[in-house]
Amino acid sequence: ATSLVWLRDDLRLDDNPALAEAAGLGKPMTVVYVLDEESPGVRPLGGAARWWLHHSLDALGTELEAKGSRLVLRRGRSSDVIRKLATQTHAGHLFWNRRYGQPERDIDAGLKEWAADNGIEANSFQANLLFEPWTIRTGSGGPYKVYSPFWRACLAAGDIRDPLDGSGSLPEPAASGRGLPAGDALGSWKLLPTSPDWSGGLAETWEPGEHGAAQRLEDFLDGPIEDYGTGRNIPGTEGTSRLSPHLRFGELSPFRVWREIRRRHPRKVPADVGIFRSELGWREFNWHLLYHNPDLATRNFRPQFDNFQWGSPSRKELAAWQQGNTGYPLVDAGMRQLWQTGWMHNRVRMAAASFLVKNLLTDWRIGEQWFWDTLVDADAANNPANWQWVAGSGADASPYYRIFNPVTQSKKFDAGGDYLRKFIPEIARLDGKQVHEPWNAETDGYPAPLVDLPESRERALDTYQKLKDS
Ligand code: FAD
Repeated sequence: ATSLVWLRDDLRLDDNPALAEAAGLGKPMTVVYVLDEESPGVRPLGGAARWWLHHSLDALGTELEAKGSRLVLRRGRSSDVIRKLATQTHAGHLFWNRRYGQPERDIDAGLKEWAADNGIEANSFQANLLFEPWTIRTGSGGPYKVYSPFWRACLAAGDIRDPLDGSGSLPEPAASGRGLPAGDALGSWKLLPTSPDWSGGLAETWEPGEHGAAQRLEDFLDGPIEDYGTGRNIPGTEGTSRLSPHLRFGELSPFRVWREIRRRHPRKVPADVGIFRSELGWREFNWHLLYHNPDLATRNFRPQFDNFQWGSPSRKELAAWQQGNTGYPLVDAGMRQLWQTGWMHNRVRMAAASFLVKNLLTDWRIGEQWFWDTLVDADAANNPANWQWVAGSGADASPYYRIFNPVTQSKKFDAGGDYLRKFIPEIARLDGKQVHEPWNAETDGYPAPLVDLPESRERALDTYQKLKDS
């Protein structure tokens, strides 16, 4: 019998328990990735994530070939594809690492049943979260709804396992025995944009795949992490790790990140490093929320928000936000950074999202969908959870009266205007003060403000007040 390893959000050889376990059996092994855009409830990837996936699979395929194996690519309803492939390869074992969205869990549970009925041993592993969502419970046994006690409970829950160095021991490829099953050519999936090809900025910014992920981790741990507490708030510098897309696609294991930090700080973790770890805690928390609230991307976490009176922004207003033409430099620089590079700095994400939800009174789901399509790190938990946090409808959310002022924010966190100038050529010539308030200056065609800040702020506060009173 052979082994079948199904890779999903874990596109790595390092610290990959499913792969390591299969390799340990020493049997011929098939490694497969399935592009599933058909199963009920599975959310099709956005454009930027498709670009990433293409390059990540390409890199992984190359790595596997270097080890004498291969990545088999198949497309379709994943439960059908895996059953067929398991039968075709005479698999006696089926391995995967766990996923946490409801539609994905349903697929996996169905396959486990099918495997049991067909004499195939199916095993799943913890690989992508430091803490399995069902293991962290409040005193009364329920899931957490507030971040701080959740993260405290995680840290108290016990030691985090060491990452596995399993990648070195991949067995002889199945090809030496009965021949690997045929797969699709990656290019036939057409994951890359063509007309127009908007991916130039993404290619300049990122190296998808395990190698790029390891490099980013090292660069970050060698420098910026030491000053993360302040550096993480300055969008004009590389003060954060930029690991999010690598973590999203599982090119890097969170256990590896944790371990590397511990190795460098065996005794006491410095305050800045602790802040960084607590951001990883937010990632854990959001997946915990999704696990217990499968509809996080479509339903208000707090049901009273179902009565919220969203405005109806015009197409023009929405396009101005999407394209970075609101006339508020911080928002626009962020939205252009997103379009050009597939990523936006966290502080600017908060400001840009607050502008859409509060100043334009737009339903957070509209913004979530745009980010889903344009972020390389968009995922089913962190994107909706953060949007709900900004809107005030989420768990442990930002209070409704907190409305980011994009002008104050840019003066505070991009004082010299470097970030603004980098992404908005129309105001690149303006001096330090004017660049934050370009409506007082002569620009190269930069738009006038889309809305009045104090007025739109009042409107938002009134609407939130009505909800509170209702
Ligand atoms: P770092 O500051 O280096 O943090 C390290 C890691 O911690 C990140 O890679 C990420 O995995 C995690 N992390 C940091 N901040 C958060 C947070 N607020 N919530 C959850 N995890 C966090 N993050 C995503 O990974 N995917 C998304 O789809 C996503 N959508 C967002 C939408 C909005 C409206 C907002 C305000 C934030 C969103 N975030 C999302 C969270 C955050 O902005 C990014 O994780 C972060 O900017 C990624 O950059 P980094 O890797 O340099 O982060």
